[in-house]
Amino acid sequence: MPHSLTIHELMEKLDSGELSSQQVVKAYLDRIEAVDPKLNSFVTVDREGAMEQARQADRQRAEGGRGALLGAPIAVKDALATKGLKTTASSKSLENYIPPFDSFVVGKLKEAGAVIIGKTNMDEFAMGSSTENSHFGATRNPWNTDKIPGGSSGGSAAAVSADLCAGAIGSDTGGSIRQPASCCGIVGLKPTYGRVSRFGLIAFASSLDQVGPMTKDVADAAVLLNVIAGYDSLDSTCADVAVDDYTSGIGDGVEGLTIGVPREYFVDGMDPEVDRSVRESIEALENLGARIKSISLPHTKYAVPVYYVIAPAEASSNLARYDGVKYGFRADGADSLVSMYEATRMEGFGAEVKRRIMLGTYALSSGYYDAYYLKAQKVRTLIRDDFLKAFEEVSVIMAPTVPTPPFGIGEKTGDPLQMYLNDVLTINANLAGIPGVSMPCGFSADRLPIGVQVLGPYFKEKLILRVARTLEGVLSCNKAKPVIN
Ligand code: GLN
Repeated sequence: MPHSLTIHELMEKLDSGELSSQQVVKAYLDRIEAVDPKLNSFVTVDREGAMEQARQADRQRAEGGRGALLGAPIAVKDALATKGLKTTASSKSLENYIPPFDSFVVGKLKEAGAVIIGKTNMDEFAMGSSTENSHFGATRNPWNTDKIPGGSSGGSAAAVSADLCAGAIGSDTGGSIRQPASCCGIVGLKPTYGRVSRFGLIAFASSLDQVGPMTKDVADAAVLLNVIAGYDSLDSTCADVAVDDYTSGIGDGVEGLTIGVPREYFVDGMDPEVDRSVRESIEALENLGARIKSISLPHTKYAVPVYYVIAPAEASSNLARYDGVKYGFRADGADSLVSMYEATRMEGFGAEVKRRIMLGTYALSSGYYDAYYLKAQKVRTLIRDDFLKAFEEVSVIMAPTVPTPPFGIGEKTGDPLQMYLNDVLTINANLAGIPGVSMPCGFSADRLPIGVQVLGPYFKEKLILRVARTLEGVLSCNKAKPVIN
């Protein structure tokens, strides 16, 4: 079936003429119709638009056209603007927003010939770890529909895992690509801060947000990164650093590399099955010639508190624009400008978003700025320095992505702190700005996916993909598919 193919397998079949893009897109649309009512991974499926893009792709190919993704159906997190296609950030406040422009990443996908099949569900404004904070209802994990798919890019992760698209795009502010990738048994890459333009990404926390691929295997992550990486003058934080060919050298193995294993990432309360799977993965790479070194990242324990000052502070500023005036939802019945603002923001935002705006506004307010925001930024530097020091001795770092397998839907919604603790192992990379890739490395006894992450120095995406690909070659966890109940 075409929908079980990876992007690189699919491209071969499209290029050889064995399959047409219209056949492939039709197969995916049928599968979405049959399966997605159980998962709720899409907010919008662009049936007509996708078939039209597929027709165009087939026409281009018949005329000798080629493109890295020509005719391949890709799903995009609903945080990225798509011209003429609803973009909601899973918020009531943007429920009917149709952008007049494409985000940089979506523009790049289209240039490469991708078919944008639809927009995936997420936690509202990317705030969450379970995709339960969506105005459009929770997304479910394809491996067990009573479990969360992770978040905030849970729709993208579930859609890739359930074969509802060939690959997807997510965004990662504190783990939102890697954590759902781990929960759904797929590959998710958070690039270096500045590697991929955020132009047209609905901002959550601008010093942390990064866009990246979510795919069925490691090679596909490299294929998508090749398409979306690069300089963009419309994002002032985008780095003008040459783009590698991330697919080349991916099979070069790990001989001669030193893998750092941070003691602080094997935390108290970690699930024993996660611990075992990750340690076995590290051993597997040792058997293939890597040197393993125990390291310390001593400021790891401050990452969650630092993040939950900085991210809400930036969010409170970024979300000031949803005031009912410029675009998006406006509440009815207000009798003054101020009461219109209040009612719009009261009704337009969900509980978690309001909680973050309040936390962030408090942390930035006069008299508290130095005590909270400035202090958090200083500790952030210490966290970054831990990594810089570690990378003087090791090539990459390996650790679990999430301390436990995915939890039950509803299990943590009443306790925000418990929810926040799900990100203890992913947030650090965002605070430091370094790249990280999560990939499946095993299953729990009740067949829930377990993920391992490989973190690397700035702009070493190629290196972490190579390590991940080597591990994938011995584990083959990516070949397992969920049975959707
Ligand atoms: N779960 C984290 C949060 O709620 C990270 C989310 C993200 O990376 N977008 O903020």
